[in-house]
Amino acid sequence: MSEASDIIVVGGGPCGSFTAFNLARLGAKVTVFEEHNEIGVPCHCAGHLSIQGLKKLGLHKLPKGIVENRFKGAIFHSPKGKKLTVELAETVTCSVNRELFDKYLANIAENAKAQYFLKSQVKSLIIENNVVKGVKVNQNEKTRKFTANIIIDAEGISSRILRQTGLTMLDSRMVVNAVQVNIENVKDIEPDMVEVFLGKKYAPGFYAWLIPRKNSKAKIGLATSIGNPKDFLQRFMHKHPTASKKLGKAKILGTVFHPITIGGPIPKTYFNSFLAVGDVASQVKPTTGGGVIFGLNCARIAATVAHEALKRKDFSSKFLSNYQKLCNKMLGFDMKVMLKLRKMLNALSDDKIDEAISFCIKLGFGKSVKDIEDIDFQGSSLLRSLPKPQILAALFYFFFLYFSANP
Ligand SMILES: Cc1cc2nc3c(=O)[nH]c(=O)nc-3n(C[C@H](O)[C@H](O)[C@H](O)COP(=O)(O)OP(=O)(O)OC[C@H]3O[C@@H](n4cnc5c(N)ncnc54)[C@H](O)[C@@H]3O)c2cc1C
Repeated sequence: MSEASDIIVVGGGPCGSFTAFNLARLGAKVTVFEEHNEIGVPCHCAGHLSIQGLKKLGLHKLPKGIVENRFKGAIFHSPKGKKLTVELAETVTCSVNRELFDKYLANIAENAKAQYFLKSQVKSLIIENNVVKGVKVNQNEKTRKFTANIIIDAEGISSRILRQTGLTMLDSRMVVNAVQVNIENVKDIEPDMVEVFLGKKYAPGFYAWLIPRKNSKAKIGLATSIGNPKDFLQRFMHKHPTASKKLGKAKILGTVFHPITIGGPIPKTYFNSFLAVGDVASQVKPTTGGGVIFGLNCARIAATVAHEALKRKDFSSKFLSNYQKLCNKMLGFDMKVMLKLRKMLNALSDDKIDEAISFCIKLGFGKSVKDIEDIDFQGSSLLRSLPKPQILAALFYFFFLYFSANP
């Protein structure tokens, strides 16, 4: 026998829970399946989020304990140890404890009457005549069937369920393997600045990061397109000209590994009675790998479109395509620009990155972006900043370095 709801959400990560919350508060009967026995565990994320992004989502008044720190800017390190400081006029980002953040989102969804099943792994979709009808779920070593009008796939990067719909999966050539570490006894850090370390020698295809916490603790990590991130982490901590001074004597408290998708959104995110939200749809910034703010925005759009579909009793692929139209309208331009920037950055040698950082330091680039309005929508922010001579000059120089290396 199968059990019915209006909406089934696969995955109790931030995007699944925020979709469930937005739908449940509109009155839909929502069931969420999460394969782990606890929401937010294991945690695989640095939780570095823009404050404005949270505000726009209505999530700026998070309960005490979730926000660990706030930041005014970033220090960019070149592979040879040059330092470009970009300090903004006020705090613009924060780091959250992702376990508590995920639990909070699940909590508000449950309070809005979404029903959660933990230790419940969705094994497959039930598809009849090209329409998704429900899911088969493993619970206590038994398989149960659940049906719904719409299934929302928020399973994260694993994409096991998505595969069944025949939709194009995220671009595996643009997936980097990350390692994220909690450490203590970190030296010489500015508590209100995050640090970004560029260069193929330490993080080929991506970058390494340091996010300060309180009391000389920090989250550090990196991702790479080749090799084992664990080996690169050792090199980064002990051989990088500036990072080694900060991290050489640090004690590692816990390590996690997880991939990050940086290839931009998958081409199609809907099917008959089906939507894909968050990492599974690669709704992640290709420049930074940040997926929470964009994923939550798409989750909110998915909830609005799914709710409208329930009202109209129209669960067709044609109607659900409105989800993708609205996501594209919001993120399309910025995603394209960020993907281009990521590919250009990846193409620069370590020497060219050193040159670029030196040029920006000479230009006074750090000061010229003091009043940057939006760090999530980087394409639009770049466009708005073009009249500034330093930004224009830096951009030209970046293009010059890229084209001289890739004629
Ligand atoms: C090392 C690292 C650092 C990062 N740092 C940042 C950062 O600082 N800022 C930022 O914005 N982003 C960051 N990201 C990206 C961010 O973690 C993701 O974009 C975000 O978690 C996506 O949310 P999601 O809900 O789509 O997927 P997930 O958070 O992966 O959640 C998916 C959930 O679905 C569950 N699930 C999967 N399959 C099934 C199934 N078949 N049945 C039931 N449940 C299932 C999983 O257990 C999981 O709970 C980082 C990623 C990594 C790897």
